[in-house]
Amino acid sequence: MRAYVAGLDLGGSSLKAALFDPSGIAVFECREPTPASGGAREVIETIVRAIANLSEHVPAGQTLRAVGIGTPGLIDDSGTIHGPAVNIAGWQGTSLTDAVCERTGIVCIAGNDVNLAALAEAQTRGCDELLLVALGTGIGGGVVSGGRVVTGNRGMGGEIGHVVVVPDGDACACGQRGCVERYAGSAALIARYRELTERGADADIDVAEIARRALAGDADACTAFANAARMVARAIGYALSIVAPEVVVIGGGIAELYPPVVAAIDVALGGESFPYIRACTRVESATVGNRAGVIGAGIAARDLSNRIAADS
Ligand SMILES: [Zn+2]
Repeated sequence: MRAYVAGLDLGGSSLKAALFDPSGIAVFECREPTPASGGAREVIETIVRAIANLSEHVPAGQTLRAVGIGTPGLIDDSGTIHGPAVNIAGWQGTSLTDAVCERTGIVCIAGNDVNLAALAEAQTRGCDELLLVALGTGIGGGVVSGGRVVTGNRGMGGEIGHVVVVPDGDACACGQRGCVERYAGSAALIARYRELTERGADADIDVAEIARRALAGDADACTAFANAARMVARAIGYALSIVAPEVVVIGGGIAELYPPVVAAIDVALGGESFPYIRACTRVESATVGNRAGVIGAGIAARDLSNRIAADS
């Protein structure tokens, strides 16, 4: 059965939403600020309002059959947020799909935002075996195998940011030491650059400025990105041995600001992985960009709609 579906992507600053027609084309999109300080209840209200807005653009005689929602954090198969809290008060423990379904009467599926972005990158490439690594404030990961997202137990799969790359290294908020996020996330990149310049860089320098300097040839900035790339490659090397993707896609804000980091990871991966698997794996830049979450959520909604249609 062909149907209209919606994809929503909840981010720290905004909620993106898109309505997809039966052929999968986004026919209407909207965006609202995320009321993160208002807590879970207000975020749910914003989601419900966005769905109502999308519904108004469904042509007469057609219905909105399913909604997919991408959210930061860990989310289990029942659509409940668990694990370390994201930056939304009361988000942990929220039964997201139940709450949205109750309010809208539309079936709903939810997943981790990076996992859904991985699904979008995989479908866009026509690739069934893919690892997405998103480099930003944190380092997120998503695995697609056999064309499906590997969510793992309680939705905890794909958390590549907390792979230990430096034994007994820097303490991470997760409780471990030496996580790749502590060496290649935004804060780490800034700290390493300031160390390299012997704190000559301003305390309030951001990744965009370091990227600009690296692209202009600043040696310390290039070194900071090269060091981060080597650590990310090490984490990816472990993942290759376990999930053997056909393509490793590098996305996220850091890769957008400094595209050469993708080639640097590709080169570094040569010394950090099982050579035969490495030889069979491509490393590429993300192509779907910052709409990957909303498109992946739409794909998940489409899959849900199809499953319900097949069962009835
Ligand atoms: Zn960690």
